Amino acid sequence: MQQQVLLVEDDASLREGLFTSLKQAGIGCRAVSSGQEADACLAAGDFAAVVLDLGLPDIDGVTLLRRWRASGFTLPVVILTARDALDARVRGLDAGADDYVLKPFATQELMARLRAAMRRGQGQASAQLKYGELVLDTQAWQATLGGQPLSLSRRQFTVLAELLRHEGRVLTRDHLETAVYGWNTDIESNAIEVHVHALRRKLPRDVIHTVRGVGYMIASQPA
Ligand code: CA
Repeated sequence: MQQQVLLVEDDASLREGLFTSLKQAGIGCRAVSSGQEADACLAAGDFAAVVLDLGLPDIDGVTLLRRWRASGFTLPVVILTARDALDARVRGLDAGADDYVLKPFATQELMARLRAAMRRGQGQASAQLKYGELVLDTQAWQATLGGQPLSLSRRQFTVLAELLRHEGRVLTRDHLETAVYGWNTDIESNAIEVHVHALRRKLPRDVIHTVRGVGYMIASQPA
């Protein structure tokens, strides 16, 4: 398993500190300071994950991330954002970030989130998503609950699969809309709420949680 992480951070002291921490944790790291260098690295190399600062000198990190996702890079991305920049954080998650860490942060926190994102990244290679008694086969578009077929519309299935892929993370309504409807479509403002409502009637209680003002999440698996 390739374990090299691409670190994109223009603050030299932070970049060097993280570079050292990653190496000490046994994770190979390529550290760069601009969007242009990051683009070149991603095109040339095989990385297990990216740590991306949103405030870069040559390009907005959100724009960069959106471009990567549009061109098919599926690798896990953890963004670094300023503590007061709620808007940037939400835009970053909408653009396809897997997780975020607020500056200033403890290195251990970033490492933990990065490891979790990398684990999820590997898990995505499997076509089956499991959550307790619930199993989604994303290739056959079939769902079962406790071994019994669960009848879901294509859109309900997509919402549920997207939530399961990001288990333990909050997904914004915009994120879910993009997953279900793609870009540039004219949809009802409550479309996602309607799908979630329908899903809740078919699933055990408390599987899908509402995070007021932000979106929805599926809590991490019960142990
Ligand atoms: Ca910066």
